Amino acid sequence: MNYEAFFRAELDGLRRAGNYRVFADLRRHAGAFPHATRLGPHGATQVTVWCSNDYLGMGQHPAVLAAMHEALDHYGAGAGGTRNISGTSHAHVLLEQELADLHGKEAALLFNSGYVSNWATLSTLAARLPGCIILSDALNHASMIEGMRQSRVETRVFAHNDPADLARRLADLDPARPKLVAFESVYSMDGDIAPIAELCDVADAHGAMTYLDEVHAVGLYGPHGAGIAEREGLSHRLTVIEGTLAKGFGVVGGYIAASAALCDFVRSFASGFIFSTALPPAVAAGARAAIRHLRMSGAERDRMQDRVARVRAALDAAGVPHLANPSHIVPVMVGDAARCRQISDLLLERYGIYVQPINYPTVPRGTERLRITPSPLHSDADIGHLAAALAEIWAEQSQLRAA
Ligand SMILES: *Cc1c(COP(=O)(O)O)cnc(C)c1O
Repeated sequence: MNYEAFFRAELDGLRRAGNYRVFADLRRHAGAFPHATRLGPHGATQVTVWCSNDYLGMGQHPAVLAAMHEALDHYGAGAGGTRNISGTSHAHVLLEQELADLHGKEAALLFNSGYVSNWATLSTLAARLPGCIILSDALNHASMIEGMRQSRVETRVFAHNDPADLARRLADLDPARPKLVAFESVYSMDGDIAPIAELCDVADAHGAMTYLDEVHAVGLYGPHGAGIAEREGLSHRLTVIEGTLAKGFGVVGGYIAASAALCDFVRSFASGFIFSTALPPAVAAGARAAIRHLRMSGAERDRMQDRVARVRAALDAAGVPHLANPSHIVPVMVGDAARCRQISDLLLERYGIYVQPINYPTVPRGTERLRITPSPLHSDADIGHLAAALAEIWAEQSQLRAA
């Protein structure tokens, strides 16, 4: 077989479908987020980033940077091993205590990313509970789905955010079997929010454990930034709360918060935890500083919501269609992969605005979109420029289609 020809042909297929992904080569500027320098085909240009998952700009927060500098100077660069083999540093222990406290749980366990925390925890719990069956929301993230697959247990998919459908599916099952209901709080593509209380009611009625991915909510919601479950007073009802240190907290890493026994069980049996080198201590220290700051300060959350409302109002005034939802995610719907890529390119080349196109397989075909994430750091001028640029592009494209 001609392997190289095969790879190239597959990539050409992606290009023809408008689904080939191109990275923007950026230098973000600490102290000047959301502004960055883009290294493009025509040299360096200045851009405003409108699609960052560093939702609150904690990746440049002075308290985070100071904690990371200090830890780097004290402990050096790497962790030195897996947690079992010399990699546990006091920074990890402190961060796990902080995370357990944040979510009102007995314990927490760190992983190298949110992806690994979902994959390792779901696969370990489901595979090791005898006869376990998983009930999974239809729109769960790839990392959860991979964990379920890895466990090789039976999985039933329930309709997205639909407690009645979950109840119907649970009613069919042997009451004696262990069950795990897995879902997210804020869904990152449509920005809708799960009915957590109702899903917990159904799970409780059938003796099922609950697993909540709060990746797009930690730092951003709740009086102390613990997420939607905290905001709704429901943290105690979830068996496992999973989160990331990479988005609202601005650094990198993932975790679960749960009972001491459950965390110890995953620590002891999950290959994705056991056999991978621990996060650098400086990363753990930076994440802890971000969490501590956001537990005390609601200013970033308030300002973000203010910016979100302002972006939505500006898009409405400019006649640019966006999906209504109760979160900080503003999806501008395009509905065609090639056009989505083209609008994103125009924004970047002509207006210095960076919004990555979101195409299949991240979202279903026909729902391609620009996913805008306003942060506390976007100014009124940034918002005005974004809305004006989108309005111009929309006007041009509707003329083209009419012609
Ligand atoms: C980004 C994401 C993850 C993975 O988190 P990382 O820390 O980036 O690996 C998990 N779940 C959801 C819903 C996500 O969007």
